[in-house]
Amino acid sequence: MAYIELNHVTFSYPDCTQPAIKNLSLTIEKGQFVVLFGSSGSGKSTLLRLLKKEIQPHGKLSGDIFINGVHFGETTDKSKKIGFVFQDPENQVVADDVLHELVFGLENSGLSTNEMRSRVAEMVHFFGAESLLPRKIHELSGGKKQQINLASVLLMQPDILILDEPTAQLDPVSSRELLDMLKRLNEEFGMTIILAEHRLEEVFTLADKIVMVEKGKILVEGDPRGVLTQV
Ligand code: ADP
Ligand code: ADP
Repeated sequence: MAYIELNHVTFSYPDCTQPAIKNLSLTIEKGQFVVLFGSSGSGKSTLLRLLKKEIQPHGKLSGDIFINGVHFGETTDKSKKIGFVFQDPENQVVADDVLHELVFGLENSGLSTNEMRSRVAEMVHFFGAESLLPRKIHELSGGKKQQINLASVLLMQPDILILDEPTAQLDPVSSRELLDMLKRLNEEFGMTIILAEHRLEEVFTLADKIVMVEKGKILVEGDPRGVLTQV
């Protein structure tokens, strides 16, 4: 069984005549960098939220979703932690300065102060963000804010990282920086990444697998080269 498996998944929001996801089947392997590509309204966010078990209660779902062999309806110690990064970093910020933002998520984790410090230090080193620690978050550029946001999600040590158009609000240079970081996370740490994007040129070279979604269905999927020959 694949790491993530969707079998014939259909999902409808309440009072919507058309399902947002229609009989969709998809597999994702551990360590894969998967890009969900499709225009606005194609169903990318809905698909991501289903993986995060966020909207199941708020609509009608049929089909099956398995993550690491665990059916989405059950919780066991094999359940996987999913980290989620949105478009707008502002929505995810909770603290005033960068250090506190990073430590915040760990405060209820049962780690000792020393363990929290060393985990934060390691992450800050990965991002090359040592000089940002004392800075106020609201003074940072959008790109840096999104990096800190990503860092705080990673500090929770997710098994799977899901990002919904994370560069939509960023300038081209900051976008590139963030995407390069994601590539490093995937290559150096084998992080499984699922990223939704409506601009394919941004993410084309990152992906192991591209899934083109339209009207809640998969149009084409495969490695970037394969997908290019089919569209
Ligand atoms: P994308 O992320 O590709 O832009 P979405 O998953 O947000 O697509 O949307 C897929 C479809 O579901 C669209 O038709 C959208 O209008 C609809 N939709 C999304 N969220 C909701 C919601 N909370 N309630 C009702 N319909 C929704
Ligand atoms: P995204 O950029 O992720 O596609 P959207 O702009 O489609 O997001 O949607 C933004 C918010 O509006 C989401 O919370 C989504 O659930 C909600 N939404 C989208 N379409 C509808 C809809 N037709 N009815 C109700 N809520 C919707």
